[in-house]
Amino acid sequence: MPDVADARGRRMGRIVKLPSACWPETPVAELAGVGPAQAQRLTRLGIVTVADLLLHLPRRYEDTRQLVPLRELRPGMVQTARVRVRDVRAHRSPQRRMPLVEATLEDAGGSAGAIWFNQPYIANQLAPGMEILVSGKVVSGLHGLSFQSPRFERVSTDPRHVGRLAAVYPETERVTSKYLRALIGRLLPVAERMPDRLPPEVREAEGLMPMSEALRQAHLPDDETAAAAARERLGFEELFLIQLAADRARRRRLGSAGVVVAYDVEVARAFSASLPFRLTDGQRVAAHQVLADLAAPGPMNRLLQGDVGSGKTAVAAMAALMTCRAGFQCVVMAPTEILARQHHATLEALLAPHGLAPRLLIGSTGSRARREILEGLAAGHDPLVVGTHALIEDDVVLNDLGLVVVDEQHRFGVAQRQRLRLKARAMPNFLAMTATPIPRSLALTVYGDVDVSELREMPPGRLPVDTRVVPPHQREEAYEFVRGQVAQGRQVFVICPLIEESDRLGVKSVTTEHRKLEQEVFPDLRVELLHGRMPAREKAERMARFAAGGADLLVATSVVEVGVDVPNATVMIVEGAERFGLAQLHQLRGRVGRDRHRAFCLLFEDGIDEEGSQRLQAVATTQSGFDLAELDLRLRGPGDVAGLRQHGLPEMRAADLLDFALAQRARAAAGAWLERDPELTAYAPLQVAMHAYTSVFDLD
Ligand code: ADP
Ligand code: MG
Repeated sequence: MPDVADARGRRMGRIVKLPSACWPETPVAELAGVGPAQAQRLTRLGIVTVADLLLHLPRRYEDTRQLVPLRELRPGMVQTARVRVRDVRAHRSPQRRMPLVEATLEDAGGSAGAIWFNQPYIANQLAPGMEILVSGKVVSGLHGLSFQSPRFERVSTDPRHVGRLAAVYPETERVTSKYLRALIGRLLPVAERMPDRLPPEVREAEGLMPMSEALRQAHLPDDETAAAAARERLGFEELFLIQLAADRARRRRLGSAGVVVAYDVEVARAFSASLPFRLTDGQRVAAHQVLADLAAPGPMNRLLQGDVGSGKTAVAAMAALMTCRAGFQCVVMAPTEILARQHHATLEALLAPHGLAPRLLIGSTGSRARREILEGLAAGHDPLVVGTHALIEDDVVLNDLGLVVVDEQHRFGVAQRQRLRLKARAMPNFLAMTATPIPRSLALTVYGDVDVSELREMPPGRLPVDTRVVPPHQREEAYEFVRGQVAQGRQVFVICPLIEESDRLGVKSVTTEHRKLEQEVFPDLRVELLHGRMPAREKAERMARFAAGGADLLVATSVVEVGVDVPNATVMIVEGAERFGLAQLHQLRGRVGRDRHRAFCLLFEDGIDEEGSQRLQAVATTQSGFDLAELDLRLRGPGDVAGLRQHGLPEMRAADLLDFALAQRARAAAGAWLERDPELTAYAPLQVAMHAYTSVFDLD
């Protein structure tokens, strides 16, 4: 293949770059055998330069060392065989008119079939007499055993393809693993010219291979052990760099002047004593961590993770009280007006015994009230204000900001956080709260410069939400159940997914569902509607009406915040549950069961495959948001990791983000390096590498 490509390259008068003339920065478009169209396709995989190509790591390896004679094929397993194509037939399935390609394969001792669905072009890739290596799941059918949608490639004498671990890459149209193997294989010598961003001392101390060796072993491994060691080395480097950036940011932050809020034991005691409940151990530990941060000289940067209802607000309230008592102001920000109102009410109740009355500043606050609040804040006699984005508008001036609490931090951008920080004279302390926990290993990476507190236990007396997956044929039964709950005086949420891309706010799906429920299913019940196109005011009114018992069912989209306490709501129905992420489903489920009544979550699905069913069952059987988050990450794979990009971090190509041990090793190594070389002058590639992280960690 390379020869053909070279010839073509010369014919077309293009510059043919030999590996020896290539550098990591060389655009792939300049390579022999990569025409403009192919270069365009490679871009889809994020590959522009030779370096990108070398860092395009295999997803897995196909073990072509284990070739199975067709006679010994067994159904139900993925197997690989070396065969000759006897015949190929393209036709359509009789009922669904789906294009099918079938082939008969043979080897010295036997024969088997192969079938591909919806891939008519396969027929052009195969011809009788062709020798191929075929690999796929073997199923048993009417005419004996056959490979189902197997991968295949022509047997070549090239040792990259046969009789060893062959790399299987993330692919795209006409960029197959086979193609990539050939292309990358040719360019492996360029690996010698790739910068090694891991200092040799670290590499040696950690027992890791040099970069060039790691790339070679990742693409063309000697064996499984070498492939794993290569992956470890490349992953370690990614984690090391991110930890280095995070640790530098942490050192800078802790070295800067912050607002010091002294830890007044009496205030903490008085607060605990005023609560209508006993703090859980988790709340105690978290509160202690927060208060210790507040009292330390550098500004706090802490994330409090805990499922909905785990009691994060009480922890935040204690920190707010401590801050205000020390003479500083505290701002509590929520992503929506509804949530801001709720926080305001909760804090008001918790802090009233201490003579602290929070103000509420949201978009719909009247101009007169707003002016009054702004004056109070600027003059410094309003110590505590709860609100939305309205809090970061330019005319909001804070006299002596000491603590910023942000609920559901992921909804806030870096820029908004920065604006809040700028409102303060000294760097304020920062506490983020989230009910969408992320796994510990990931937190260590994504929130490198953030200290994490976790509330893993629920306050006593809370029953787990009984969660069921409801297939289409059990819908009627589920509606009967709902009717029973309503008859007992309970209320029900119905959440609809966003179905059409054009319907971003889900107005259409939720309106349709509302009409159906109101007119056909529950004509005798009161069904309320809530969607994202309604004015904030109307949303708040409808929500409040529902919370006050003015409706039996509330139909809403997931974009509409239902982060509101409606203790009387006992059923959460999620329509099209398969369209939601696991964490999101868990989050929605947390909206019910906030009272002594037994609560239920019904996950309505519209016909799903085995994998989808597994995901939903996982939600049904797992109560902890922490466990679910981890499972979610495992199921989705590292490709689409919870917001790495959203956090502005460079892509992680090699690191297993569930590998806590590796993340910790990298963190320790980064810390040790900075102890000796805080300015990163000892190893130049580190300096360069840090540029990619500045936008994430250098907020200040
Ligand atoms: P979160 O903010 O984590 O979702 P909240 O702070 O709103 O949770 O608490 C949920 C509910 O549990 C509230 O009604 C709160 O009063 C109550 N609560 C909080 N801590 C405890 C506790 N230690 N024991 C009993 N109830 C608690
Ligand atoms: Mg809360």
